[in-house]
Amino acid sequence: MQKVTWNIFIIVCLKLILDSILSKSLIDKWQSQSLKKSFGFLDKPSKIKSKDHNTAQQIHEEVFSEFDCLDCANCCKSIPPIVSKRDVKRISKHLQMSPSEFEDRYTKTDSDGDRVLNASPCRFLESDNKCSIYEVRPAACRQYPHSGDHLFFENLSHHKRNAKYCPALFEILKRMEEIVR
Ligand code: SF4
Ligand code: SF4
Repeated sequence: MQKVTWNIFIIVCLKLILDSILSKSLIDKWQSQSLKKSFGFLDKPSKIKSKDHNTAQQIHEEVFSEFDCLDCANCCKSIPPIVSKRDVKRISKHLQMSPSEFEDRYTKTDSDGDRVLNASPCRFLESDNKCSIYEVRPAACRQYPHSGDHLFFENLSHHKRNAKYCPALFEILKRMEEIVR
């Protein structure tokens, strides 16, 4: 019985090591290629829209199963997320402060007139790349990079810009490009 437990422990450790290697190799690829890739297929939405939405969803799930956001956190370090009234209500309750106190302390209005979190890197980002308000984080954080939950086609015009920040989206676009070519 002890031997079985030991074997399971080794398998779990090996899987963690392999996942980490895979995750880091996607980040390396993104760092070396993201400025060179233009993803021209995103400029032809009519061609892309003929493709099955499920394919994009499948690729999204495939890439995120190979990738650990805790190795990255680049979105939390560089893009202040939009916070809706609903987000404000939920997060302020969690932090035991009033919605207006939360808005004053943690949000600002950006140049597009949207209410966003007011610091980059985000003040809720911890040193190990975890989010200190993960359970109640803004919906925009939950949805980023807007390629899952069948959102891929609704956000075609944002993908090029987001791929400059997000290694996972960069990989999703590369795999989509292979299919729509
Ligand atoms: S930038 Fe993309 S890959 Fe990195 S943590 Fe954010 S969602 Fe995950
Ligand atoms: S609230 Fe959490 S998930 Fe959203 S940007 Fe800040 S640290 Fe990241």
